[in-house]
Amino acid sequence: MIRVVIIGGGWAGCGAALAAKKAGADVLIIEKTDLLLGCGLFGGIMRNNGRYTAAEEAIEMGGGELFEIIDRTAKHVNVNFPGHNHATLYDITKIEPIVRRFLREIGVEIKFMKRAVEVEMKKNIIKGIILDDGEKISGDVFIETTGSSGPMGNCLKYGNGCVMCAQKCPAFGPRVSISQKAGVNDLIGKRSADLFGAMSGSCDINKDSLSSELQKMLDEEGVAVIKLPESLINKEKLKMKVCQQYAINEYAENIILLDTGHIKLMSPFFNLEDLRKIEGFENVMYEGPFAASKGNSIRYMSMAPRDDFMKVMGMDNLFCAGEKAGPFVGHTEAIVTGLLAGLNAVRKATKKDLIKLPETTAIGDIISYVNEEIKKPDGLYQRFTFAGSTYFERMKQIGLYSTNKKQISERVNKEGLTGIFDKRIL
Ligand SMILES: Cc1cc2nc3c(=O)[nH]c(=O)nc-3n(C[C@H](O)[C@H](O)[C@H](O)COP(=O)(O)OP(=O)(O)OC[C@H]3O[C@@H](n4cnc5c(N)ncnc54)[C@H](O)[C@@H]3O)c2cc1C
Repeated sequence: MIRVVIIGGGWAGCGAALAAKKAGADVLIIEKTDLLLGCGLFGGIMRNNGRYTAAEEAIEMGGGELFEIIDRTAKHVNVNFPGHNHATLYDITKIEPIVRRFLREIGVEIKFMKRAVEVEMKKNIIKGIILDDGEKISGDVFIETTGSSGPMGNCLKYGNGCVMCAQKCPAFGPRVSISQKAGVNDLIGKRSADLFGAMSGSCDINKDSLSSELQKMLDEEGVAVIKLPESLINKEKLKMKVCQQYAINEYAENIILLDTGHIKLMSPFFNLEDLRKIEGFENVMYEGPFAASKGNSIRYMSMAPRDDFMKVMGMDNLFCAGEKAGPFVGHTEAIVTGLLAGLNAVRKATKKDLIKLPETTAIGDIISYVNEEIKKPDGLYQRFTFAGSTYFERMKQIGLYSTNKKQISERVNKEGLTGIFDKRIL
């Protein structure tokens, strides 16, 4: 039996585990904290703009279970907010145990509170991963999905300090770049000529601390847009955000709130003194210890150079996905790149040709487009998402964006990709 070892249990690791398991391998996820989903414990916005197309493609390709779980348990569906249409919002307080149970039910083994710290190599082949308690985990093929935030030093040096984000470095130890340990030179994202990384772009608010009117609006609509007084508009903040799809004027001129269990304030760094001047926010509190009002985590500090099969360049049996695989932003982006990494990892271990998804699909296109773009002079300043900014513009221009399920299904079928993630190859 082929053993696939996945390091990091965020959405990318979960997507990879699903595809590798369905392909017939033994699958183990190693996760350093006590929770799956990583940054997915903050987010919740799915299916906005081109993410709808990508989710439907993944479903047609037979890798839709995680999207179907999210759809089934969504807190709000078909939500529109500035620059974004037909979003689904999952409940960040409910989704993790559902995904954890699902993965275990399909036979994925998960080890929590186990942190990979070293690799054991023979030439360019990884033989095993060493955990922080000294245990050695052997496998045939490895997938790194450790994300790109942490360790704390990065947040202190390039950000506003450590906020105990999803990585929970102070409690569970810092993220480790497995590709770098294996001798690969990781890529580093930039935000200006001399500043590395990018700030996470939202804060979590406690719903009960908002006025009853705002709570009612959020319960009913999933979204609230409140105009800011002139004195509180700060367009400079837009430049700081990782999520370029929300770096548009509406996000500086308004407070935009989304109901994802906690209330997601779509803006970084809002001082409580200022926030409490706004009607409905007089008693507002952040959900600690997440992003709160000042701190924020720094991301895109170590991305593995990879090919379009999701294999790390120069390595024989190491694949990657999610933020580790390039400046991708989003849960959808993590899941779909994870699916391809999971399938190709099993194909590699069974000596089958690896699959490249064609550029006639949004998933295939973003995977190869990001690889080309990051080689350009300003490439490492960019972030890519189906949900907005340059990549969503590209989707629209080349006709990839669609919310027509039949059309998406036909497109996938025409390429012979229907059900590819559903086929056992072992
Ligand atoms: C505040 C915030 C809000 C966001 N909101 C949204 C949103 O609404 N919608 C959206 O689509 N995207 C959102 N994003 C972006 C999105 O969450 C990420 O792009 C995506 O979830 C990244 O997934 P990942 O699996 O690649 O990495 P991560 O989520 O970072 O997962 C990495 C995992 O690896 C584990 N790990 C790290 N090192 C090790 C190690 N050495 N050994 C074992 N385990 C390790 C970590 O604990 C973690 O669980 C948000 C991000 C942030 C920070």
